[in-house]
Amino acid sequence: MEIAIIDNYIGGEWKTPVSGRRKPGYNPARSSEIVGQAPDSDREDLGVAVASAEAARHAWRKLTGAQRGALLFKAADLLESRMEEIGRAMTLEMGKTLGEAKGETARGAAILRYYAGEGMRPVGEVIPATDAEALMFTTRSPLGVVGIITPWNFPVAIPVWKMAPALIYGNTVVWKPAAETAVTASLVMACFHEAGFPAGVVNMVIGDGAVIGQGIAEHPDIHGVTFTGSGAVGKRVGQLALARGAKYQLEMGGKNPIIIAADADLDLAVDATISGGLRSTGQKCTATSRVIVVRDVYDAFRTKLLEKVKTLRVGDGLNADTWLGPCANRKQYDTVLHYIRKGKEEGAELLIGGDRPADSALADGFFVTPAVFDRVTPRMSIAREEIFGPVLALIEARDLDEAIEFANDSEYGLSASLYTRNIGNALKFVQETDAGLVRVNAETAGVELQAPFGGMKGSSSHSREQGQAAIEFYTSVKTVFVKP
Ligand code: NAD
Repeated sequence: MEIAIIDNYIGGEWKTPVSGRRKPGYNPARSSEIVGQAPDSDREDLGVAVASAEAARHAWRKLTGAQRGALLFKAADLLESRMEEIGRAMTLEMGKTLGEAKGETARGAAILRYYAGEGMRPVGEVIPATDAEALMFTTRSPLGVVGIITPWNFPVAIPVWKMAPALIYGNTVVWKPAAETAVTASLVMACFHEAGFPAGVVNMVIGDGAVIGQGIAEHPDIHGVTFTGSGAVGKRVGQLALARGAKYQLEMGGKNPIIIAADADLDLAVDATISGGLRSTGQKCTATSRVIVVRDVYDAFRTKLLEKVKTLRVGDGLNADTWLGPCANRKQYDTVLHYIRKGKEEGAELLIGGDRPADSALADGFFVTPAVFDRVTPRMSIAREEIFGPVLALIEARDLDEAIEFANDSEYGLSASLYTRNIGNALKFVQETDAGLVRVNAETAGVELQAPFGGMKGSSSHSREQGQAAIEFYTSVKTVFVKP
């Protein structure tokens, strides 16, 4: 297989990192196979990128929304036309199935088109002034240079849902993708390059989180920092940005519950638990992790769940019959195995999975068969800590009240779901559940690009991304008072 040699993208050009150093990225399905060589950049590379974003920002903000939107539309078309290539790169780098990878790329194009249209939509309101002669209204200003730090789990959708609103509202961008998905990132960047964005408007620098990510959080010429990733890193990024007065936005982890009420359609609930919990090998921030089942239907639900989990095919994401790919990297794989051990040690019963697949062709990959734990109590580590892998924890609740209490008993609050046929149960759940996404008769992992997305409690900095909510982060409100 050809190994992709990746460069940074700075000031409209592909640039080798100043040090000349690169680090290999591996295929999680065959862990000795190198997929790409990613730049191992230094602060010097970041400095050049920030300077070009700074130099470009004044001209960029002067364009009309329609002019900026036209470039986003072009980037969308290019992304869509390269869906196969980008999807393959994603599967090779982080393991999700090719179908999911292509679907994510298509979603990236849809996000770009949505925000391209935002360039033509209202940004303010007229407010009655106390002076009858005056006109008072609000308008919005871009922040300036926005730093974007993203994880490997959605290497197209997350960067695009940050870059597209940043750009349409008149900011320039310095993006640090996860180095694990550098090939995918460079293909996304190539679409922006070919779309014809002016030099310096979009820049990409790849390197270590502690060097380039932290460098973005600390850089005095970066006016806004948006981060998606783990809670520990996010909090540090937020502190560094706050310390120098920059605006910041953090989207972090989850420990998302699905509640199965006594009156749920159990077949639909099983499908949602499997899809929400195990697609993308459980590596979605919105993945279902806690399965809270009301006592009356606990045994029946568990039986149906196990029947289906048994049928899921683990394998290389490039194979058409694979349902579940490998963990994305060694660190993730070790974390999953750690929690499987811990679950057993703390007294939960592993009903199925949690080991290597029997197929010897998978011996060199980070594969784990999907695991279901029974007799999990809300205090156990597997019910409290984010695993980010194919592990479901079954928790029995006396009734819906106790189920909601268990669901809320978490430091996280990203997504939560309930299966029920009763409208009263549904409304109670919607009102009482502490989560940024609350879904009835739908899996925890559905995200709609035109709606606000973000979490409560430790899952976010209480801001929202996507849809029209994005304008709140990427702009500042200016209140204007004009008297003749
Ligand atoms: P991570 O926090 O390790 O890395 C995220 C990004 O931060 C990467 O680009 C990384 O290089 C960078 N980084 C690492 N150390 C840094 C530092 N010291 N300073 C600045 N940046 C640094 O997370 P990950 O393992 O790549 O992703 C998995 C996590 O992301 C999970 O916790 C998951 O829940 C979360 N996530 C959240 C959302 C959401 O929208 N809420 C979406 C996807 C993933």
